[in-house]
Amino acid sequence: MDIEKTGAVVIGAGVVGLARARELAGRGIETIIVERHPAFGQETSSLNSEVIHAGLYYPTGTLKAQFCVEGNRQLHAYCAERGIAHKRCGKLVAAASEAQRAYLTTLQQQAIANGVDDTRLLDKDEALRLEPELHCVAALLSPSTGIVDSHALMFSLLGEAENQGAVFSPNTTVRSIEVVEGASTLRLTVDSGGKSMCLDAERVVNAAGLSAVALARTLTVYPDGLLLTAYLAKGNYYALAGRTPFSHLIYPVPESGGLGVHLTLDLGGQARFGPDVEWIEHIDYDVDPRRAERFYAEIRKYWPSLPDASLQPAYSGIRPKITGPGEPNADFMIQGPDAHGISGLVNLLGIESPGLTACLVIARQVVELI
Ligand SMILES: Cc1cc2nc3c(=O)[nH]c(=O)nc-3n(C[C@H](O)[C@H](O)[C@H](O)COP(=O)(O)OP(=O)(O)OC[C@H]3O[C@@H](n4cnc5c(N)ncnc54)[C@H](O)[C@@H]3O)c2cc1C
Repeated sequence: MDIEKTGAVVIGAGVVGLARARELAGRGIETIIVERHPAFGQETSSLNSEVIHAGLYYPTGTLKAQFCVEGNRQLHAYCAERGIAHKRCGKLVAAASEAQRAYLTTLQQQAIANGVDDTRLLDKDEALRLEPELHCVAALLSPSTGIVDSHALMFSLLGEAENQGAVFSPNTTVRSIEVVEGASTLRLTVDSGGKSMCLDAERVVNAAGLSAVALARTLTVYPDGLLLTAYLAKGNYYALAGRTPFSHLIYPVPESGGLGVHLTLDLGGQARFGPDVEWIEHIDYDVDPRRAERFYAEIRKYWPSLPDASLQPAYSGIRPKITGPGEPNADFMIQGPDAHGISGLVNLLGIESPGLTACLVIARQVVELI
């Protein structure tokens, strides 16, 4: 079998893998980005809400909280410097009933503890002045929440990685990772262009998203205690036919496994709703039209005048979960040499939301590890 050697391999050309490849290449490390699809960003990184989160919800001290708050600042700046379409449109978390009002205060305290100091509690009249069609008893305004063109972001990250010498290898599927030569080299077995070959590298970043856990499990020398189980939680989206009356993102009080069926806007001003949470066994992106009924019910809690027959199935994305239904949400799991003892290897597991917001920060942290 052919063997090719390089300094680093990044598995997966999603937003996190590309950010990492840019960081590695920027430090003069010969880097190959391998991707099983013909193009970058064909999975979760293009099937999400494209929200630059502020970092309100995550428990203080978690990687999600730290990376999201810093990631928000860095991503806004990165996009502004490079002319990548993005907008600081702000978001309102709406309490639909008196019973939900207390949650807003708790959420604001959580945000402050995380270092987000610009949120504002609004009474009903203040909220309605911003969004006249919103139904709420009170709302929390997060001015630094924004939206980004995720494709343009990935295009920029890949371009910068390539300009610094990284090589993009599409249509290349990694089958396994093994440790060779007295632990100084990592060997990937890959299928590329219909043939099997090996890629030897000093450093490997497993940023394979939905397949990251399965790839980590191909390592025969991995500590048992670090082997996780992968779960898939699909999030379905419906598009609004016609114009939206909203100019902010609108979020309900969260539901288990996700942030609730929220309203996000794309950069063209079109509204979409979602994602909900549907636990699935196998990857399947179909949006079941029968879920619409639940969407109407959820959305009308904060937008009662949502017209009948205005929702159309749009798309879905799948969260790469490492805890299952009914279990508490896990933090990002970054397993580097300090955890597993294998020099040069980082496995990125459970990189669900806010992975898009956090991509630049995760990239820097990971490169420091190897
Ligand atoms: C419904 C939903 C909504 C979300 N909304 C937001 C949001 O609004 N804001 C936010 O910050 N985050 C959001 N996220 C999270 C965010 O989208 C992800 O954290 C981020 O896209 C993860 O990027 P990634 O590069 O790790 O993974 P991916 O985008 O999944 O990329 C992994 C890549 O690896 C490739 N790959 C897999 N296996 C192999 C293999 N064996 N060989 C070669 N290549 C392989 C895949 O083809 C893929 O291209 C959302 C996620 C979901 C599911």
